[in-house]
Formats: sequence, structure tokens, C-alpha cells
Amino acid sequence: MRNVSPVDKPSASSSEEQELPESNLLADNPRAARYEPLFPSETSLFPRILSPQQAVQSAQNCLLCADPAPCTLACPLQIDIPKAMNFIRQNQFLQAAAIFREKNPFAEACGRLCSEDLVCQKACNQVCSAAAPQINLLGEYVCFVERESGQQSITPGTPQDRSVAIVGSGPAGLACAETLVRSGISATIFEKMPLPGGMLRYGIPEYKLPPDWINNYIGALESVGVTFKTGINIGRDIPVDDLIQQGFSAVFIAVGCNIDSIPDIPGVDLPGVCLASEFIARARLIPEQLPLEMQHRQPLGIRILVLGGGNTALDCMRAALQIGSAEVTCVYEKSEADMPVSDLIKAEVKEAGAHFRYMTKPVRFIPDPQGNVSAVECLQCELGPPDQNGQRDSVPIPGSNFLLRADTIVVAMGVHPDPTIGKTTPGLSTYADGLITIDPATRATSRPGIFAGGDAAHGPHLVVSAVLDGMCAAHTIELSLNAASRI
Ligand code: SF4
Repeated sequence: MRNVSPVDKPSASSSEEQELPESNLLADNPRAARYEPLFPSETSLFPRILSPQQAVQSAQNCLLCADPAPCTLACPLQIDIPKAMNFIRQNQFLQAAAIFREKNPFAEACGRLCSEDLVCQKACNQVCSAAAPQINLLGEYVCFVERESGQQSITPGTPQDRSVAIVGSGPAGLACAETLVRSGISATIFEKMPLPGGMLRYGIPEYKLPPDWINNYIGALESVGVTFKTGINIGRDIPVDDLIQQGFSAVFIAVGCNIDSIPDIPGVDLPGVCLASEFIARARLIPEQLPLEMQHRQPLGIRILVLGGGNTALDCMRAALQIGSAEVTCVYEKSEADMPVSDLIKAEVKEAGAHFRYMTKPVRFIPDPQGNVSAVECLQCELGPPDQNGQRDSVPIPGSNFLLRADTIVVAMGVHPDPTIGKTTPGLSTYADGLITIDPATRATSRPGIFAGGDAAHGPHLVVSAVLDGMCAAHTIELSLNAASRI
């Protein structure tokens, strides 16, 4: 078992803790000066191994619940899952894939990204218990079979003389583009990063979504006429209003919500402290695929502390292990039960060798003599008195200060939206935190002709929810353009 980082004073009571060498000189660590996977890529697990017989067997566990089935109701896209399960039971994988893809252009990716204990699978588990069909796995599998068969394609609609600008090439933007193209409306996607894909490429670790899938999907969109313009930061380089003046009939803003929140902790700017989004992007991509300001090499240490307890923190831990860090420890201020993550994902990360320290509040980053971060000072926490709702928050114990040593510290303590577009688009209404205000039924913003969706409007959420927003916005845009042409 891997060791956790040593504790200097006082002991924070973990039987796994033991002394390690005083320091891991980054230069001595052959893995430290690069952010490249050392282990064989886990992408070979995509799609996760399943034989046709296993797929049929799993689908046979489906009870074919009466309409509306709990799984369909729970799915944000309302996919007719029992119908797909019935096709799989009869070995009709392509028909099953068509059911998934009809409502979700990202069905293959969502099969992997939708958490096993959320949405449709969670609803199914409640009616089907331990023998529930593996809906996500089966969706991913049949869509992969369809893609491999060469029968997966995007059929463009009859071309119309209309063009929509999409700002952001993550799941909402891409889903919007595909839906528009299917209606014959051309789409141009603007992306500030060097490559398209948004958070699918830059924010999700490779083990969850291999670049091949993203590249294939982008290629499929390009083949039906979607234009990608990368390296352009709309709102900063070009105002949204210029897009309208350039002749686009409508604009869909899907820039995500991916600016890391920086905690107000002394020393957070020390070398060796990095932000989660940059850590994941560096772990996943070669320098040329990163923005210029991120292309310099970043040393990576053996001992990594990840501060935070959400899905992004777990993604960072997994990425760190994959790169080759010997010790990866999550430091979370609350209890394990408070972690807003799937139990399955947490178990997976633990199994991969990571450690967790709960009820631990970081209060100061400490440099070594060279000025690089070498430790974080923490306070032990305990449960405080119940509030009026009976909830007990964690509160630091005065005087319980102790040090956790680390070579690299990753801050994964939340994200907030980029305020740039809100500030540079007159009349575009946003909430105080920067999220764009939309009509939940249409995804229309306060500005006529401008729509928004995905994390930029809701904050961090499931990929499948962003897909729903993109498709919904595309339908509204089509309807509004049709209505305008009849006037
Ligand atoms: S809830 Fe489960 S058992 Fe029922 S139809 Fe959906 S997948 Fe089948």
C-alpha cells in the first residue's frame, strides 16, 4: 500500500501514516519533469470490455418496465431505454444504438461519463436491485458497435441560408451544432483553446474519455460542414455583438464554467501549487495542444496533495496516479459522507492507491528554502453543534495545527464562470456569480437572438445536461428563425 504524506505535529491519527524521506527532489524523480502518462494508456478500456453475449445477458435483466419507465423518466434526455434494452436482448445492437443516439448525439461518451449511481442507472437500481441491467455500459457498447460498423453518421438537413455562431466547443456547443446541422442550419463554433472539445478535451481525464472519441466526433461534424475557429476568445478578442454584425442569425453561448476558484490561503501562489483545471489539462495533453501560457514544462513531485472533495478533486487524483506520482492524498475539510461524489468513483480512486484525509482544513502553504511549496499547514476539524436544520458542520479545532508535506499541491476547491462575456455584452443578464440568465424552457437569454446553456448557465453539471441544453437551444433557434422568415 502507498504511504500517505507524513504528519509533523500533532499526529492526525492514521495507522497508514509513517515517516518518509525528508524531501523528494523533483530533479531526482525521473517522472517529475514531465506530465506524460507512464503507465499504459487506460484508453484501451474504451469501450469497456463487453462481449456480445454479456451485453445480451445484461439486457435480459431489464424488466421492460411499463411506460413511463423509471430509467427513462430519470434520463434528462428521456431516452426510451426499455426499447433499447429489448433490441439488445435480441442481438439487435445497431437498432439499440439508434434509440440512444436519436436523443443523445453523445450517447457513447455519456455511457462512460454518466455516473453509475446517478440518473437512469440509479432509478433502475431502485426497481431492479442487484441484477439491474448495466444501462450506461450497454449504451456505450452499442454505440461503439455502431461507430465501428461505419453506420454512425450525421445526416444534414436541407441546407438553409442561415448560420449560427456557437461560442464554446464543449458538450453543449457540439450538441447544438449537430442538432442545427440536422435541420440544415450551418454552424460555426468558436473556441478559445487551441483544439476544439472544450471540457471534453481539456477538463475530463483521459481515462474517462479518450481523445480518439472526441477527435472522431469533431471530424464527423466537420464532414457535414461545421466550421471550427479555435484560439479565439469571444468576449475578449471579438465581442458577441460583432458576431451578429458579421451576419450570424443567432448566437449560442456555451463557454462552460471552468475558472478555478482560488482559496484565500497564504502561500497559494507558491511554485508547486497548481489549479485543478490546469493540472488535468497538462496531464492529458502535450504542450502544443495547450494555450501558450501553459506550454512551459511544469515539475511534478512524487507526493501530491489534492485539496477539495468533489469530482474534480478525484479526477486530479486519478490523473496524478496515472502520471506516476507515488503518493496521492485528498485533503477534505468535511467528512467522507459529505463528499459530493459517486461512491463508485471514490472506491475506484481508493483502489488505484490514493488516500483521503477528511476533516482537515488547509490554512497555510509553506515553502522550502528554494521557495517551492513543501507542505501545507492544516487544522484538524470536528463536527460542530447542530444548526437549526440539525446539520452539523465541520469546525477547526484551535491549536490542532499540523503539517502535511507535499511536492505538488493541486487546488480543486470549486470553479466559477468566466465573467468576460457577461461584462462585454450589453444587455446580457447574468447572476451575481456570473452565470448567464436563461429562460429554462427555451435557453433564450435577455438579449434577443442570443441563447445560452450548459455549465455557463447552470454551473458545473452532468455532460448529459449540457447536451440537453445544446439540443434545446438549437430547436428554439430553428423555431425562432422560421418564425422570423415568415414575418
Ligand atoms: S428501470 Fe431498469 S428494469 Fe426498468 S425498463 Fe429501465 S432499465 Fe429496464
